[in-house]
Amino acid sequence: MVITAVQELTINSRRLQDDFNELSNIGATVGDAVSRLALSNEDLEGRAWFASRIEEAGLLVRDDDVGNLSAVLVSRKQDAKTFLMGSHLDSVPNGGKFDGAIGVLCALECLRTVKEAELDIPVHLEAIDFTDEEGTWQSFFGSLGFTGKLQASHLNDAEQDNGAFRVALFRAGIRPTEVQRAKRNPDELAGFLELHIEQSETLAKVEKQIGIVTKIVGRSTYNFNFYGEATHAATTSRYKQRDALQAASRFITAMHDMAQEDYPAGVVNCGNVHVQPGAYSVVPKLASLRVECRHHDDAILSEMESRLVRLAQECAKHHHLTVSAKNVLRRAAAEMNPKMLKTITDVCQQHGRSHMPIISYAGHDAQILSPFVPSAMIFIPSKGGISHSPKEFTEWEDIVAGANVMLHTMLQLVSKSV
Ligand SMILES: [Zn+2]
Repeated sequence: MVITAVQELTINSRRLQDDFNELSNIGATVGDAVSRLALSNEDLEGRAWFASRIEEAGLLVRDDDVGNLSAVLVSRKQDAKTFLMGSHLDSVPNGGKFDGAIGVLCALECLRTVKEAELDIPVHLEAIDFTDEEGTWQSFFGSLGFTGKLQASHLNDAEQDNGAFRVALFRAGIRPTEVQRAKRNPDELAGFLELHIEQSETLAKVEKQIGIVTKIVGRSTYNFNFYGEATHAATTSRYKQRDALQAASRFITAMHDMAQEDYPAGVVNCGNVHVQPGAYSVVPKLASLRVECRHHDDAILSEMESRLVRLAQECAKHHHLTVSAKNVLRRAAAEMNPKMLKTITDVCQQHGRSHMPIISYAGHDAQILSPFVPSAMIFIPSKGGISHSPKEFTEWEDIVAGANVMLHTMLQLVSKSV
């Protein structure tokens, strides 16, 4: 069959749902949650299950040196490029069943649909599961390896113990010394398309079924240390106290006021505060905070970063303290590929799917891939905007709509070659 004669082609909803139900049982915990932490037994079981689905469908199983696992449908065309679709099968602890997993399963279903229809596609199709998107050990480990951006620091700066990270890698068959070999050649890739739940409630509020992601916010994380002096809290005169926690508290309130007033499209958050010596009778000598800010415009993100540092210095000065600021992570905002966005929009119009452009405030593998290969994302609604929770839910009809938009977007893109 030729690609232009496939307007009515649809994915197999029952088969996709069977996959979803089976996968949801792997790592299932109480309360309808799943825990498939990257490189855990449950994650490895999920991958083994994915590999068996790939083989069952008559597709090729491909894995790489960072543990990314793919289904490949090989084109008959010589020197064909690869069009990539997918997301991640790992989850946060007691997370939902939809985040990441649905993007991988829809990608696999698109490949099976194309194979079954015997379409003659001028590119190889690949449905990929990226390792540790959620950051159990190192966020975007798989997509960073895929794009050749994995550095020694990523292996020595794990969220948990670095030694345990290495053990987990070895257990999954990943050798830390060989992760550079996972880098793919961008000239051999035609594009990357990721389907994901929205994780906010914009689509549901305006009753649109498909979100066409235009940008993914950039993100910057800082460690601030406010240095005061530990003295007796009752006998030291109030005017002599150098209270690190008071300065930190002032800073937290001020940074939220700044974001609210000057950066309505930005986000700031402080989620950890560690105080030393941590005794109620002693003036805090040290308050350590980790703060992150996000914005979809990189220049504005940089401006937010400098203002945060200035604000911390002003708050420290107010309390006669010093403060240090260290940037520990900087991920640039990502622009999705305009040609791919137009194709998703055209497909939604042709198939009568309600749609809207949308900005992603969460990070995704597409953010890492976008500077490397033309990339785009399709969002489907999340009930109540809830994710990373057992309450995460997306209507099945929205998943099927998303999968079909994905299928036809891919078909149109590969027929005109991205
Ligand atoms: Zn995700």
